[in-house]
Amino acid sequence: MEYISTRGSAPTLDFRAATLAGLASDGGLYVPAKWPQMSADEIRALAGLDYAETAVRIMAPFVEGVLTEDELRDLCRAAYGRFSHDAVTPLVQLNHRHWLLELFHGPTLAFKDVALQLLGQLFEKFLAGGDTNITIVGATSGDTGSAAIEAVAGREHIQIFMLHPEGRVSDVQRRQMTTVLAPNVHNIAIDGSFDDAQAMVKRLFGDEEARGQVNLSAVNSINWARLMAQVVYYFYAAVRLGGPDRPVAFSVPTGNFGDVFAGYVAAQMGLPIARLVVATNVNDILHRALTSGDYSAGTVTATATPSMDIQVSSNFERLLFDLAGRDGAAITGMMGEFDRNRAMSIPADMLAGARGLFSSASIDGDTMALALRWAQEKGGQIIDPHSAVGLAAARALEIDADIPVVTLATAHPAKFREAVERATGVRPPLPARLGNLFDREERYSRLPGDYDAVKAFVLAEAARG
Ligand SMILES: *Cc1c(COP(=O)(O)O)cnc(C)c1O
Repeated sequence: MEYISTRGSAPTLDFRAATLAGLASDGGLYVPAKWPQMSADEIRALAGLDYAETAVRIMAPFVEGVLTEDELRDLCRAAYGRFSHDAVTPLVQLNHRHWLLELFHGPTLAFKDVALQLLGQLFEKFLAGGDTNITIVGATSGDTGSAAIEAVAGREHIQIFMLHPEGRVSDVQRRQMTTVLAPNVHNIAIDGSFDDAQAMVKRLFGDEEARGQVNLSAVNSINWARLMAQVVYYFYAAVRLGGPDRPVAFSVPTGNFGDVFAGYVAAQMGLPIARLVVATNVNDILHRALTSGDYSAGTVTATATPSMDIQVSSNFERLLFDLAGRDGAAITGMMGEFDRNRAMSIPADMLAGARGLFSSASIDGDTMALALRWAQEKGGQIIDPHSAVGLAAARALEIDADIPVVTLATAHPAKFREAVERATGVRPPLPARLGNLFDREERYSRLPGDYDAVKAFVLAEAARG
């Protein structure tokens, strides 16, 4: 499989190069040159397979030419062997038509483990035995940081630097990062906000001097391999509910449009998906874009669902690329306009294309809390606030009564236990597998919110590693 950029002018890459690069050199995002197709019979044949084997069937066409099926199988077994539930992503029934797909049984309790555990394996495989070293630099508002650190801790040829805004991530989230003491892990607490940290990371990626000294790599959801890994659980869930002979709807708590774009990919590959619900909190750029074509960034409002407190959804560009007939020049024009004005309007024909599959809803804090209580009272489940946004949207939209609706449960309730306790009166206990998280030694560096200080630190530590 070849990978092309959504902006049309970066070189075409194979799967290995696209995975290691992250962002394309023309500022675009890599996508497969075409969507592989699965026939109804091939989808039916997934029904009896375990998660790792399902993953091999779904991902094989995307890695063709770079990994053999046996190599891919070994990586999937290693990645998904670390999940605490044998089904990896189990389905839980709430009532006669609503289901939860629990994506939080990985090491750091959020769905990001599903993709990052595999990405860690891919990085190791691609770098093994060679003399290429990569330096991963990222900023996190909580979940991505710990999932990325867990995925690469202790691996050869990789250094990881993770910036978090000091005092603005929860104790659980911070400790999940800072108690990983592997020498290749560097946690940095920045005096500033998440946006400050993110801006410094972006500046580093554009810094010629820095790029000349280290081989920078990104693990945020612009990395194609992460989306590819997420396509798997749409198939896994749908076949358990009667797919491909019965269409299924999915409701996806959305921030950067990564997880829900993976659902779009599943549909392009042939999985009958009746609806994809884009569920946002009050930071609703995607809901506005999909309902009125108004793609304009406002200011971020802090909510009880911090992992969705996002104004600009990077992966939306991948959908726009398809809606524009894969015209890279058109996307370069549209995204250029967005970068200049922080706003653009989506043409009516493209919008109509999106509405064929996507619905959307913006869910405020009260409605989220109502959904949390509904899951508790009607379905016997304590869920997390992000999942509750998805469930609220799933229940608010009119979907044919005979179609099963699966809400993606993106985090374990214990990860956001204050908000869960406020809504339900129940304080979810930390799962035993986190063990003595609160007794373990923490290690991190504090740096001022100053680009030069952060750059000097990263370059010096990377050179030592
Ligand atoms: C990252 C995250 C999301 C949003 O996922 P996107 O792929 O960015 O849309 C939703 N819920 C939780 C718990 C997350 O960590």
